[in-house]
Amino acid sequence: AQLDTLDIVVLAVILLGTAAYFTKGKLWGVTKDPYASSFANTNGAGAKAGKTRNVVEKMEESGKNCVIFYGSQTGTAEDYASRLAKEGKSRYGLETMVADLEEYDFDNLDTFPEDKVAMFVLATYGEGEPTDNAVDFYEFITGDEPSFSNSNDPPLGNLTYVAFGLGNNTYEHYNSMVRNVNKALEKLGAHRIGEAGEGDDGAGTMEEDFLAWKDPMWAALAEKMGLEEREAVYEPIFGIVERDNLTKDSTEVYLGEPNKMHLEGTAKGPFNAHNPYIAPIAESKELFNVKDRNCLHMEVDISGSNLSYQTGDHIAVWPTNPGQEVDEMLNILDLQGKKDAVISVKALEPTAKVPFPTPTTYDAIIRYHLEICAPVSRQFLGTLAAFAPDEDAKAEMVKLGNDKDYFHDKISKNHYNISRTLSVVTGGKKWSNIPFSAFIEGLTKLQPRYYSISSSSLVQPKKISITAVVENQLIPGRSDPFKGVATNYLLALKQKQNGDPNPEAFGLTYELMGPRNKYDGIHVPVHVRHSNFKLPSDPSKPIILIGPGTGVAPMRGFVQERAKQAENGENVGKTILFFGCRKRSEDFMYESEWEEHKKVLGDKFELVTAFSRDGAKKVYVQHRLKERAKEINELLQNKAYIYVCGDAANMAREVNTVLGQIIAEQRGVSETKGEEIVKNMRAANQYQEDVW
Ligand code: FAD
Repeated sequence: AQLDTLDIVVLAVILLGTAAYFTKGKLWGVTKDPYASSFANTNGAGAKAGKTRNVVEKMEESGKNCVIFYGSQTGTAEDYASRLAKEGKSRYGLETMVADLEEYDFDNLDTFPEDKVAMFVLATYGEGEPTDNAVDFYEFITGDEPSFSNSNDPPLGNLTYVAFGLGNNTYEHYNSMVRNVNKALEKLGAHRIGEAGEGDDGAGTMEEDFLAWKDPMWAALAEKMGLEEREAVYEPIFGIVERDNLTKDSTEVYLGEPNKMHLEGTAKGPFNAHNPYIAPIAESKELFNVKDRNCLHMEVDISGSNLSYQTGDHIAVWPTNPGQEVDEMLNILDLQGKKDAVISVKALEPTAKVPFPTPTTYDAIIRYHLEICAPVSRQFLGTLAAFAPDEDAKAEMVKLGNDKDYFHDKISKNHYNISRTLSVVTGGKKWSNIPFSAFIEGLTKLQPRYYSISSSSLVQPKKISITAVVENQLIPGRSDPFKGVATNYLLALKQKQNGDPNPEAFGLTYELMGPRNKYDGIHVPVHVRHSNFKLPSDPSKPIILIGPGTGVAPMRGFVQERAKQAENGENVGKTILFFGCRKRSEDFMYESEWEEHKKVLGDKFELVTAFSRDGAKKVYVQHRLKERAKEINELLQNKAYIYVCGDAANMAREVNTVLGQIIAEQRGVSETKGEEIVKNMRAANQYQEDVW
């Protein structure tokens, strides 16, 4: 029989794919794989000039029938969108693409073809807000009357969609993004397939909620679109090409520089989530008085940049992975020998984006760009099973991928990351066969960590302070403690700044000099994020601040600001700070500073402390609030603003409840009414939270 054109194309694709595989990526694997990576383009700021913002057009021109939009703040929603795209392609042959909500317009959603599907993976951020990249979409779709390009009735009668939300049940507005978007889409006549799924970070079940939601969704979608399930075969999204003509010293090779300006040494603003400022650390010190726990105070100098901040904003720190973890990863993947080999990474189809600039090295990718220490995704282990070095390891990976309880027991309970997991599965035997693309696709890109700025911009406009507790937890059943990425990096920076010749945080070492020693002189990459956590514009308004532990961070900025205002002769209202920690002698942060502020503010400032481990009974800030019920109620009736910062899971919730009770009791109304008053205070911004 004669081969027709399609056969020839298919054959060519197979041949090229095979060639790419056997040459270990020395050739560009030019396959037809139309899967899209969701990773944002770190080379520049989002959409490029000339790129269409019309998603229907984009799908048309790239031959897609499924778009997965994501609204993501910390990378998880983006990651889930990628995974859906990949699964849709490999299991059902859908032509998928991932799309950042920020990069498209939505007034043409009414022209979305009936035989295609749009998926929405939406994280809820902070106080029920959309993520930064989803603000415009959210406002448009939930607006009173979104105006579309045609006047169909109903406007989105042609749109088939799927929805999953990422939320945290400890927050008041649990999963409000997906709930509100779903409601809006229904109202506009769109047809949902499957349930609008909800993942709960608060209960720690996000991954399992996602896995449990997606299977019935796929079944329903397959039925609706007439898709046939097939044996899922891994197809790489990125081609890896070894650049034998380049070495790590070649000037065009990225060794961890976040973008071209940084590579060329011409970094300039705007500094933002795509472009950090490499800021000098002006000062750093330890705040705790105890051996096994650390809390850092760090002053970051932004005077050399055009960055600015306002009291109550957040600073984002761009961390670097610890050397030991980088080595373990290189080692288990058998890449140690070529860690400095220069590679280019290229997306194998037009809608995919490489999440870091290239040419670069394996070492730089693993050290600066991937979350290699994060929790492992069960689904990802299933994908990697095909590349196991032996049959036993393969069977173990399949089991881990399929059996939720087994996975929990063996992996997540121990806080194992990906390299530790691979190592445990094979007893240390190397995994030489995994295409490196799988990690670029399967691991989240390394995320900046946010910190509530603990200084006042009125007092020090060009210096930002950070107050951070170092993550170092003992995990039952695991020999070494679990250590957080960013906080241990900051701890090592602090040690270096204070003259330690061998800075290490609990045995971890970092490339503190940065790529090409560019961070020498002790620098940290940062950007600033605006927040809504703000003092009343009228300083004479009373304020109640509740900030136990590191929740004290923005409160320190607030009190600094008020003391400065008083010094400037302004009329400053009553300022009560409720602070709590374990022991007065161990972790009473900024103790002497409060005394200084008291000297300036006099009766206008009061510090109320709760030390949970100093007495026989545990006392927390919420108990102290209750003891002050009468005064709190009077202040609130005098339009005091109330601010809560810190632990979202327990403290912030309890404070909310206690306030309702105080109001009910003091005003002689029912508890329900008390709760309602608290709700209204939140709605009116009289009650503000900065919790995590
Ligand atoms: P990470 O490595 O990110 O680990 C964090 C947690 O993730 C761990 O404790 C663990 O529970 C889980 N985890 C990570 N890896 C694994 C694994 N392999 N297996 C299982 N579980 C794992 N913090 C402050 O100290 N001060 C502040 O002022 C402050 N302000 C904040 C403001 C905002 C708006 C937000 C969102 C957060 C704020 N945080 C603050 C928290 C801060 O951003 C970081 O989350 C925190 O410092 C930990 O970062 P890390 O990189 O050291 O830890």
